Amino acid sequence: MNIIVCVKQVPSTNEVRLDPETHTIIRDGRQSVINPFDTYGLEEAVQIKERLGGKVTVLSMGIPATERLLRDAMSRGADEGVLLTDRAFAGADTLATSYALSLGVKQIGDYDLIICGKMAVDGDTAQIGPELAETLGLPHIADVKKILSVDETSLTCLKITDEGEQELQVPLPALITVLKDINMPRLPSITGVEFSLTAPCTCFSAQQLEADTGRTGLNGSPTQVVRTFTPERGGEAQEIAGSLEEQAAKILEIIKG
Ligand SMILES: Cc1cc2nc3c(=O)[nH]c(=O)nc-3n(C[C@H](O)[C@H](O)[C@H](O)COP(=O)(O)OP(=O)(O)OC[C@H]3O[C@@H](n4cnc5c(N)ncnc54)[C@H](O)[C@@H]3O)c2cc1C
Repeated sequence: MNIIVCVKQVPSTNEVRLDPETHTIIRDGRQSVINPFDTYGLEEAVQIKERLGGKVTVLSMGIPATERLLRDAMSRGADEGVLLTDRAFAGADTLATSYALSLGVKQIGDYDLIICGKMAVDGDTAQIGPELAETLGLPHIADVKKILSVDETSLTCLKITDEGEQELQVPLPALITVLKDINMPRLPSITGVEFSLTAPCTCFSAQQLEADTGRTGLNGSPTQVVRTFTPERGGEAQEIAGSLEEQAAKILEIIKG
């Protein structure tokens, strides 16, 4: 069972610094961690590998410093890392990111399952999983809460919906996005850390992937962030007293303006 886990580098603090020109996140690798949702995806992949055998490859599109996070993932059970890194990928929106990741998946070649986190804690569009599946022509299930069974040919799981839960089965190869609390991510082990220091981690440039750079990075991004700002917090607080009926009447009056 060969599994690809997509992991994104995200700022470890809430202090997201944006480039004043391009309005995209300044990613310099300082203070960055693996996107929390992806640690659950990684753990799920490692548990499947422990049951069925096979290999777990962690895939990321990011700056060269992202290699450190791929090695962290290998200290938690992944076998190999693949990093797509090139200035041509910078400033990508979700369409350009999923295109680049699809080239990374094709470069890896043999896989049965792709696991993404539900969302990234910085961009939090939750778009990459479904977009990557569409780009690769794969069936996908988003918001997976629990994998009920998986073998070489299919996967059955519980997904969260607005109405509750749904049990779904999908033929492999396929892509799923996982929710937090699908499992308890393991911490790096001593042997895992030793392995991660020399484990295979391959970097690919846009040229090596034969990427159409008209579809990558800021160039390939139909979504352009035109302005970023911190919304002003203002407005005075008003205490509304009296009985419930009086308070409700007062609030209605305020809403009506
Ligand atoms: C504040 C802000 C708002 C943004 N708004 C938009 C927007 O409205 N539309 C838009 O198209 N782009 C937007 N972007 C850009 C977007 O963040 C990037 O395209 C990003 O690469 C992917 O989107 P995401 O962070 O929302 O990831 P999500 O779709 O939330 O991530 C889901 C999963 O996809 C995988 N994944 C995501 N990125 C990578 C990666 N680089 N490498 C490996 N796996 C990955 C991970 O498994 C992750 O858990 C925004 C960025 C910021 C900072």
